[in-house]
Amino acid sequence: MHMVKQMFVPGVMMEGAATCCFVCDKEVAGSGVLLLMGQTLHSHTGLPTKIGQLLGEEFVVVVQTEDVLCRRCEVLLNHLDLLEVEMVVVKRQLTAFLQAKYQLSYEPSGVFIARHSSHHKRCLCLSRLLLFK
Ligand SMILES: [Zn+2]
Repeated sequence: MHMVKQMFVPGVMMEGAATCCFVCDKEVAGSGVLLLMGQTLHSHTGLPTKIGQLLGEEFVVVVQTEDVLCRRCEVLLNHLDLLEVEMVVVKRQLTAFLQAKYQLSYEPSGVFIARHSSHHKRCLCLSRLLLFK
């Protein structure tokens, strides 16, 4: 279990800060983090960027200097951040095993291509490769 590091900056934050959370609209009451000053604990992504990634490319997140995040939303964003970082690590490990076993090379187009070998036929996707084995 990972510790949730305190991200609040005492004395700096609430001066002129908004009173409601940018995400959930809950009243922050002096215990929020300024969005522009915060970053996630695991990937060290800026909080506005993280919110933008969550919403996807169809939305533009516009953050003002006074915008704040409540403690609950900060914890949720950091939890999401942790899961995403762990997912990348797990995918990388599994992919490395598959690349080694099936002698795959990774193409910029995002498909795996098996190298020519005596017992693996060349194909354009992993599922087909596994069928050919
Ligand atoms: Zn909130």
